[in-house]
Amino acid sequence: MTTTALVWLRRDLRLGDQPALHHAVAHHDVVVPVFVFAPEEEKDWQPGAASRWWLHHSLTALAERFAKLGSPLIVRSGSSLAVLRTLVKDAGAEAVYWNRLYEPAVIARDAKIKDALRADGLTAESFNGAVLFEPWQLKTGAGDPYRVYSPMFRAAEARFDEIRKPLPAPKKLAVPSKALKSETLDALGLLPTIAWDGGLHEHWQPGEKGALQRLEQFASQPIAKYKDLRDQPALDGAVSGLSPHLHFGEISPQQAFVRAQQANHELSGAGAHGNIHHFVKELFWREFSHHLLYHYPKTPTEPMYEKFAAFPWRKPKDYAADLVAWQKGLTGIPIVDAGMRQLWVTGWMHNRVRMIVASFLTKNLLIPWQEGAAWFWDTLVDASLPQNTLGWQWAAGCGADAAPYFRIFNPVLQGEKFDAEGSYVRTWVPELATLPAKFIHKPWEAPSEMRRAAGIALDSVYAHPVVDLKESRDRALAAFAKIKASADA
Ligand SMILES: Cc1cc2nc3c(=O)[nH]c(=O)nc-3n(C[C@H](O)[C@H](O)[C@H](O)COP(=O)(O)OP(=O)(O)OC[C@H]3O[C@@H](n4cnc5c(N)ncnc54)[C@H](O)[C@@H]3O)c2cc1C
Repeated sequence: MTTTALVWLRRDLRLGDQPALHHAVAHHDVVVPVFVFAPEEEKDWQPGAASRWWLHHSLTALAERFAKLGSPLIVRSGSSLAVLRTLVKDAGAEAVYWNRLYEPAVIARDAKIKDALRADGLTAESFNGAVLFEPWQLKTGAGDPYRVYSPMFRAAEARFDEIRKPLPAPKKLAVPSKALKSETLDALGLLPTIAWDGGLHEHWQPGEKGALQRLEQFASQPIAKYKDLRDQPALDGAVSGLSPHLHFGEISPQQAFVRAQQANHELSGAGAHGNIHHFVKELFWREFSHHLLYHYPKTPTEPMYEKFAAFPWRKPKDYAADLVAWQKGLTGIPIVDAGMRQLWVTGWMHNRVRMIVASFLTKNLLIPWQEGAAWFWDTLVDASLPQNTLGWQWAAGCGADAAPYFRIFNPVLQGEKFDAEGSYVRTWVPELATLPAKFIHKPWEAPSEMRRAAGIALDSVYAHPVVDLKESRDRALAAFAKIKASADA
C-alpha cells in the first residue's frame, strides 16, 4: 500500500540537510511539501517588511526545486492546524513531519498541533533542523541553562563529534496521485506595494542556491582571514553574509560548520586555523541566542538583568524626533548614519556597526533598546528573534553576558579604529565623500574652509550631531548610577 506524508516547511526552506524531509522520503512513498502562511500565529513577532520580501523569494526558489523533483510545493494560508488537517485528508496522508523552531509562541503552537494530529491517529514528528545543539542539550555542571557564552561554547566544543553530518537532498520525489490545490505566492501579499526593494534585489539571492554559493565563496578563501578582518565594515566579503540564509533555513548550521571544518583542512597560511575557529565561535553566538530565548522566553521585551526594568529611559514624546533621525541615518554621527542607511538599502548591517548604532541609541540617546529592536525587526532581512534580542540586550547592557553598562562606545573612536580611511562612511554617506580621513568621523571639527571645500554645510547638507557625545555619555552614566543605587539599596 502507498504511504503518504506531509512535510510542513517553515524556516527550513531547503532540500539538503533537511531532517524532516529526509525522514519522510526514507519512510514514505509519496511526500507532499507544504508551506502554511499564518503570521498571526507568531503573535507579536510576525515577519517584518524585509523578512516578508525574503520569504517571498525564498519560497519562489524552493517551489521551483520541488516542482523539478516531481512533488510541487503546496502553499496555503489560514490556521496551520486546519490547513494541515485538510491536506492530510485530501492527500490521504498518515504522517506530518517538520523541523523545530524555538520562538515561544511557535513552540506553544507546535506543541498543540502535535497533540491534535496525534489525537487524530496520525504520526506527527518534529526534528532538529535549525541548530547544532538543541537548547536542552547543553547544561551547566549544576544542570541549569547557561547565561554566559564562554562556558557554553566550551561545553559544546567537547561534543563537536556529535554534530550531524549533512544529510543528502532527495534526487526525485514521487508525483502525488491527487493534484492538491495551492495558492500562488503572490496571493500571500509578501512583497511591498511601493517599490523600495531595489537594494535588496541587488545585494541578495534568497534561496538554497544563493545560500550554498555564498557559503562556498566564503569558505574557499575569506574564512582564512575572518578574525583578522571581520571588524572592518568597508571590506565586502570579509564576513560570510550567511545570516538571512541561516535564518530562513536555506542552509543548516551543520552545513556551515562542516564546510568550515573542511576549510580548516584545506587552507593554511598565517593564522588560518585561528581565523576559521573564530568563525565557528560566531556560529555558536547564534546557538547561544537560541539557548537563551528558549530558557528565558520573556527576553524579547524584558531585560534579562531584572533590575534594569527600572532604568530611567527618556519618554517617547521627548525622544520621538531623535528616534526618527536614528532610523533615517540623519543623526549627524557619520558611522551611525552609514550603518542605518546600509540597513535601509540592503536589509543588512555589519555586526560592528550594529553594535555602534545600538550603543548610540540606548546610551547617547537614552532611547529604550526595545525601540531599536523593533526597527531592526522590520528592516533586517536576517531579523531573528533570538539573535536580535541577544544583540540588543547585550548592547544596552541589560542582557546575559552583556558588556558592562558603563562601557559606552564612542562612535567617533569606533569609526576611526574600524573604518580608518572612512571608506564605509563614504559609501553610505556620500555627502561626506570628499572630506579628508582625518575628519570623516567628526565633520563638525573640520575647519570651516575645509567643510566648504568638501561641499558640506553642517545642518543643511549634513546634519549637526543630534547630541553632544560627551554630555550624553555623562547623562547615560548618571542614569545607570541611579538604577545601580536603587538596586544596591
Ligand atoms: C543589536 C544587534 C542586533 C542583531 N540582530 C541580529 C538578527 O536579528 N539576526 C541575526 O542573524 N543576527 C543579528 N545580530 C548578530 C550579527 O550582527 C549578525 O548575525 C551578523 O552581522 C550577520 O552577518 P554575517 O552573516 O556576515 O555574520 P558572520 O560574521 O559571517 O557570522 C556567521 C554567522 O554567525 C552568527 N552570528 C555572528 N555573530 C553573531 C552574534 N553577535 N550574535 C548571534 N549570532 C551571530 C550569524 O548567524 C552569522 O550569519 C545582531 C547584532 C547586534 C549587535
